[in-house]
Amino acid sequence: MRTGAVGLTLAIGLLLAACSSDQDEPGATPTSPTPSASSSSAPVAPGLSTPVEDRLYPDVGDPGVDALHYRLGLDWDPDARLLTGTETLRLRATTDADHLRLDLAADLSVDKVTIGGKAARFSHPGKDLVVSHPVERDRRYTLVITYSGRPQPVPAPTQRSDFSTSGWTTTSDGEVWTMQEPYGAYSWYAVNDQPSDKALYDFRISVPTPWVGVANGRLDARTTRAGRTITRWTLDEPAASYLVTVAIGDLEMTRDRSASGVPITYWTPPGRDDLLSDLRQAPRGLAWLEKRLGPFPFDSLGFLIVDSESGMETQTMITLGDTAYATSTDVLVHEMAHQWYGDQVTPVDWRDVWMNEGMAMFIQGAWTAEDSGTSIEAVMDQWAPGEAALRKQYGPPADFDPTAFGGGNVYYGPALMWDELRKRLGDDEFWRLVRAWPAGHDNANADYADITTWWSEQTGEDLSGFFDAWLLGTTTPTRSAG
Ligand SMILES: [Zn+2]
Repeated sequence: MRTGAVGLTLAIGLLLAACSSDQDEPGATPTSPTPSASSSSAPVAPGLSTPVEDRLYPDVGDPGVDALHYRLGLDWDPDARLLTGTETLRLRATTDADHLRLDLAADLSVDKVTIGGKAARFSHPGKDLVVSHPVERDRRYTLVITYSGRPQPVPAPTQRSDFSTSGWTTTSDGEVWTMQEPYGAYSWYAVNDQPSDKALYDFRISVPTPWVGVANGRLDARTTRAGRTITRWTLDEPAASYLVTVAIGDLEMTRDRSASGVPITYWTPPGRDDLLSDLRQAPRGLAWLEKRLGPFPFDSLGFLIVDSESGMETQTMITLGDTAYATSTDVLVHEMAHQWYGDQVTPVDWRDVWMNEGMAMFIQGAWTAEDSGTSIEAVMDQWAPGEAALRKQYGPPADFDPTAFGGGNVYYGPALMWDELRKRLGDDEFWRLVRAWPAGHDNANADYADITTWWSEQTGEDLSGFFDAWLLGTTTPTRSAG
């Protein structure tokens, strides 16, 4: 996602491979060991998570559910604006309870829910889908949910000028795109819509030919029959729900490849060679990022152009608005940086979105400096004057006003902070650790204590006061001389 205030892009995304071969159900079976409740960096089987209640947005998500795998079958009728869905959700109950609670917008009407193959009672008050069924801690269940309706985007808790809603968005001619940070996946499927609960996904999307449905991950099949085009997608590394995306429309696919061999696809409206030409700068940016951050963390990368004012990185598929700014190489680098910072390692909850945006912004600045032949300090000098006002307006980066999600305060202050740390540690040590953090937390979640403690341990210095001043302070710390 990009910042509205200063016109920069912020992004999000992720994915993982190796579906577990669970053969459970009907009903329930024991899971493999429960992931550690405290250490977010503990290795977890694909899809297993330690869900929490979000401190900023507690009404979305439920820590009683650990979603493991979503299979989404989506049929879109653009004339009627009608979505018909069949969802198979495999989950782990995290506690003994008499129900399971998921997020699902009231615009969608649930036809039937089964659990373990048997019809289950359910209620759908507001945006909650509550399935009445006894569940036991650490046992797995399979829900099949059939639903339909005319999805609407949901209000976003933001004061940004480039977006006010999130989730499923239908254009005037019936095309569709989704961007859903910090939440809004529940506008189109039943989901535990909170970033601590990563899961695997596959998709089957049926749309009228010649339109095509695009989603995260690998395109496994594309077939056309009886006037419908059906695409199948697999996301085989776990993703937080905000990083899951679907787009439907008249889109052309162009293949590319990074210097390191990562397959890249560009999805653009027909005849927009100008946009395609901008996107083709991505391999150059990716080569630079891989030098800084290590190998690209997923198996593939896509770029998708939609009719939006905003842009956002989703896991393995970067969604960009149809503007020259959104497709600038600086923005492409920012969004690709999120594949490491945001997607590979993801904040436990939204209070720590600075972990994504601060580093992506800093890395964008480092790219800009090198690409334009200036110094990182010169870029930071341009950004620094506005920081105090952003901090005052929206709050400290790690303790901000929840109604001001994605404000400039979570971008610029933390970017300046990382630059201060770079100067303190020296470039070699700093970049070594910038690269080591996501590599050591592959497909994990992390919180404020996790990352700040890790940096102190790795450097042998107690950096707690440094981080607290930059992230929790009400005034901007003094920058050191370059
Ligand atoms: Zn970003």
